[in-house]
Amino acid sequence: MTDGRTAPEPSHLNLDDRKIFSLRAAYLRTLADLSPDALPSDEVQGEFDDELRKVSARVLGEHAHDPLDTFLTAVLDRTSRASQAALGGAYEEIRPVVDALRKRIDGVKCGLCVKGDICNGRAGDDRIVAEGGRCISDIKEAMRNAKDDATREYGRVPAAVVVCTSGVSQAPTCIPGLSLAVNGRTWFSDDATTKTSIVTVEVASSLLDGQSMAALNYVALHEMFCHAYQMSARPEARENEGLFVDPIAEGMLDAVIVGLMEEKAQAAGVSDTGAASEADMARRIHLARKATRDRPRFSQAPEVALGALVHDGVLSLYSKEVGRNKASQAVRRLAYDLNLNGWDYRQRRDAFVRLRAHFLGKPRDAQLIDLFIRYLNTSSVNELVHYLTNN
Ligand SMILES: [Zn+2]
Repeated sequence: MTDGRTAPEPSHLNLDDRKIFSLRAAYLRTLADLSPDALPSDEVQGEFDDELRKVSARVLGEHAHDPLDTFLTAVLDRTSRASQAALGGAYEEIRPVVDALRKRIDGVKCGLCVKGDICNGRAGDDRIVAEGGRCISDIKEAMRNAKDDATREYGRVPAAVVVCTSGVSQAPTCIPGLSLAVNGRTWFSDDATTKTSIVTVEVASSLLDGQSMAALNYVALHEMFCHAYQMSARPEARENEGLFVDPIAEGMLDAVIVGLMEEKAQAAGVSDTGAASEADMARRIHLARKATRDRPRFSQAPEVALGALVHDGVLSLYSKEVGRNKASQAVRRLAYDLNLNGWDYRQRRDAFVRLRAHFLGKPRDAQLIDLFIRYLNTSSVNELVHYLTNN
């Protein structure tokens, strides 16, 4: 902060939501980490999952003031007893899951999270979760990694980022065909000298499932790459009075992060099934978000499709110039530069509508091609933005 103004304090999921989140995340991570031959049948797993949900709701109600680690142990003890009674001999199928989950849960110690301060469901919890927050470490790690990746890729830190979490009762995404328990939102809290982006991860803890866990890294990357630094070179506060949907952030950058996740999964190799399923999920979300012909369709589908079309158009132009590998690096750089640039929402939308006509060949603009090619050498986006906003 350059003017002594302090960034807003991050707020977080309440204690009940964090209890359920940490339980479900631990359970889902346990399942994901077990070798396929150690997994129970779908039927046994389904029964155990039902029991886990029922018991966790009961323990949450009966022992509302218990610390989170006590809650986790109590739920697992009661669920394993109830499952043993209900499943009889078939309990042996779920035993490896229970044992591995117990190990994971035994590692959660609220007293060690932030030097003896333990959350009790009151106002001070937000500070403890901001400083420690091991109960939501899956979210915090995803956001931290996404911020590191964005900072490295963008090559600069153009805005302060405050990370919050918030609980919702319904699945918060409105992407048709995908019911995900996690979503992200970014607000801008700018003043004359500082850009501050407040990124909130919304979670419906009780609906958390394997798909949602696989989507978490995509959600974090989308908020960091597409929105946290969006328009931060703008001299004024980043306001969106016309409520425009930005094709650069929502479409072009979204295509970039899917590419980055796929590259990461490839580099990790076939043994890292986690990275591969996260990249698959990112691709599915991207395709569903830009499917303009689907009914119902995602509300921002036209703009997502517009940004993705420009991404692909520039990629194909650059591929002819410098080959596919260098071209995808150059398109990423261009996407970051266009996103950081201070042009406003209307200018971004109008420029991309124009680029769509160009890339669809009606008519091709030789000067525009020249400016795109020149960017390859100059790495300056100013001429291109100037041309797109003034011609
Ligand atoms: Zn977005």
